[in-house]
Amino acid sequence: MSAGSSGATALYGSEAQAVRAFWERLGLPGLVDVHTHFMPERVLDKVWAYFDAVGPLTGMEWPITYREEEDRRVGLLREFGVGHFTSMLYPHKAGMAEWLNDWAAGFAARTPGCLHTATLFPEEGVGRYVRRAVESGAQVFKSHIQVGAYDPNDPLLEPVWGLLAEAGVPVVMHCGSGPAPGAFTGPGPVARLLARHPRLPLVVAHMGMPEYGDFLELAERYGEVRLDTTMAFTEFSERITPFPAGERGRLADLGERVLLGTDFPNIPYPYLHQLEALERLGFGDDWLRAVCYENAVRLFSLKP
Ligand SMILES: [Zn+2]
Repeated sequence: MSAGSSGATALYGSEAQAVRAFWERLGLPGLVDVHTHFMPERVLDKVWAYFDAVGPLTGMEWPITYREEEDRRVGLLREFGVGHFTSMLYPHKAGMAEWLNDWAAGFAARTPGCLHTATLFPEEGVGRYVRRAVESGAQVFKSHIQVGAYDPNDPLLEPVWGLLAEAGVPVVMHCGSGPAPGAFTGPGPVARLLARHPRLPLVVAHMGMPEYGDFLELAERYGEVRLDTTMAFTEFSERITPFPAGERGRLADLGERVLLGTDFPNIPYPYLHQLEALERLGFGDDWLRAVCYENAVRLFSLKP
């Protein structure tokens, strides 16, 4: 199912034009996407195999729209005008994170625009390799509570959260119970974590779906808690885990703390659709400018 044919290239071309028209109309110099996935090829192959299997298992088809070679995927983000992005990657077991971090450091070094991304797992040595990643310039971490099946309150992680809070390095955490719950997903474990580390710069992935309201509440309570838009508000997610109409006001008010994220390339629809879904919320151009660019520039001290 390669999308590399000339027809698909033409399709991406017109999509790139439409994506650029979106941010040009807002008067932005481009987009910042805090939630994109780049990882070692054999790990990404496994992730794609998982999404391929999801359809038959659950009746929820998940065709990967941008199943392309790595340099093509990077090139596509450039064509879209995504000036800065991340390489979200995460271990599902012990003994993997440090290797992933080495790969991500190399990827960021050879890929202009990619934020130096790192990850972690509750295991012996996590304090040491997280410190090493921060000292070597990691700008953002990814923590996947559902795939990793760990409690963010695991004592092994305690010094790590303190270190990241002190260094001001944000952690994008998949902690909501969508699309599938895990033993430690949901707002409860995160609320306990924040009670001990109120200054931890936490970015709740996927707006915390489906527990949107609880995670919005945590963002209201803690000034360093943000949410990324990844897959939220799209037709795909609205079908399974709709954003509650009653929370729209809080979402509009929290525009300073919402960051564009997309899950590129692992999405079952075109990139443009995420942007249109945000626009359709009807919160206006200032909200869109903050979410799609300004908030991330401020958080990561990016140079345009
Ligand atoms: Zn993701």
